[in-house]
Amino acid sequence: MTDQPTTYRIEFGPAWPVPPITVDFADRNAAARTVAEHAIPHLRPVLKEKGRPELADCFFQIDRDLTVGQFMWLSLAGEKAAQFCPARLTPHHHRGDPMTNQPTAQWTDIDPKDATSINLSERLDITAPLNENGERCPWPWEPQQLVGAPLGQYRCPYCMAMVMAGMPHLDYAPEERTLTRENADEVAEWVGGRRAGGAYELVAFDQFGETFYAKPGDVIHRDGYGEFTIRPATP
Ligand SMILES: [Zn+2]
Repeated sequence: MTDQPTTYRIEFGPAWPVPPITVDFADRNAAARTVAEHAIPHLRPVLKEKGRPELADCFFQIDRDLTVGQFMWLSLAGEKAAQFCPARLTPHHHRGDPMTNQPTAQWTDIDPKDATSINLSERLDITAPLNENGERCPWPWEPQQLVGAPLGQYRCPYCMAMVMAGMPHLDYAPEERTLTRENADEVAEWVGGRRAGGAYELVAFDQFGETFYAKPGDVIHRDGYGEFTIRPATP
């Protein structure tokens, strides 16, 4: 068993805007949870659009041989089920391997004039900023060259991300922070919310006309659209 790879790269079906993720499958249950936590914020808007928002309460299912997976939703009584967002698993090779997917160069270190023949959707050895859907921008060097252009905010023609003329291409990579007793002020500012609950270090924020509360230990996830979700420390 020891020479079997445990790290897999997971790519999701093209109809689903979920960026690929690399996960350690040494513990399959933990891996499935990690994949679900990664993917659900991206699936949620699509499911909402399809009129099936309840399907976001789903889990990731993997076949025995770790080759394919999919998301599965079961109704509470278990009489209804739905499967969606198929995924493909490929063993992930370690750093130094010619097949490696780990970027070794920063896109920001490359000058636009040296980048004319680079396509970052193919050159996975170079980092790339992500658009709001979590997709790599194939050519992020345009906005920084438009210094002084009366454009301001515009959409990058290569990835459609909202960017600023004259500034480096914005990166909409999702971000996560764990709320602790020490960083409550900082996290409150990050979510655009406020401290609530005095000594309990609760952080409150408003989103979609609802107020959300995070408590110490909770992980707050921000997706590419700036939507926050709270992963409770104790579910
Ligand atoms: Zn772009």
